[in-house]
Amino acid sequence: MSRKVINEAHTPRSAEVSARRIAARAATAVTGAVLLAYHLPILASLPAPSWLRRTFGVRDRLSGSVGMALTFDDGPDPHGTPAVLEALESLGVVATFFLVGERVERYPSVAREIVAAGHGIGAHGYRHLPQPLLAPWAIEEDLERGLSVVGEVTGLLPCHFRPPYGIVSLPGLAWVRRHGGSTWLWTTDGRDWERNATPASIAGKILRRAVAGGVILLHDGDEYGTCGSWENVVATLPVIVQGLQARGLHIRPLSDNRCYACSVSCDSRRMPVTTGGIEVARD
Ligand SMILES: [Zn+2]
Repeated sequence: MSRKVINEAHTPRSAEVSARRIAARAATAVTGAVLLAYHLPILASLPAPSWLRRTFGVRDRLSGSVGMALTFDDGPDPHGTPAVLEALESLGVVATFFLVGERVERYPSVAREIVAAGHGIGAHGYRHLPQPLLAPWAIEEDLERGLSVVGEVTGLLPCHFRPPYGIVSLPGLAWVRRHGGSTWLWTTDGRDWERNATPASIAGKILRRAVAGGVILLHDGDEYGTCGSWENVVATLPVIVQGLQARGLHIRPLSDNRCYACSVSCDSRRMPVTTGGIEVARD
């Protein structure tokens, strides 16, 4: 067989192989693009500028860029939360507590103490797991369960949400948006959860990174961090609050209206509190 005949005999098969390769590459590229788009919101979890976070629908600044907000994650805690509440009362400031559903179930009276003291509440998931490690349906289930528990125990459905570990996900952001709420991170982390943290190190980090309109992250519970870390927080709260006030940065609530019902969506889910207990209105 001549060389020309051999080439002609192989041409249709070569074309078929090439087409398969192109199709495989296209499928890989599409899969990669979908995965990239799915995980892209994680960028907002990095120490990103506020404008980048806003593009993903994540908030970390107060409206008006005045003062700062104090937020506490991982409670309620039977020891840490009452101590933090007492410190805040003596300082005369209002904070926002992002509550973990499973902790609210365990310590319902402590969760109700937070609300009774006039502080704002937000939801911090039910099991305190990193959202990107969960399937999309599991993220939604965790958020829904966490919110329901907070509503049933406190009588209020918060509209502020903060993902565990501050790691956002596309399904989580979409769920919060569908429920008319806001996803919040922070501008200023006291890193009170670090093993070697001290009252001085926490205050130093916050006062160095203080910014008008910013949001401070601290913890009133140690279940997911370092044992007893809330003791450092309680010890340093006066230093932080007074240090900020000396710079004209007064502590403000996360939102001016306490935001228990930000939208029609949330408003329809508001749970009225009765004197004899909590009246739960389910969807
Ligand atoms: Zn947390």
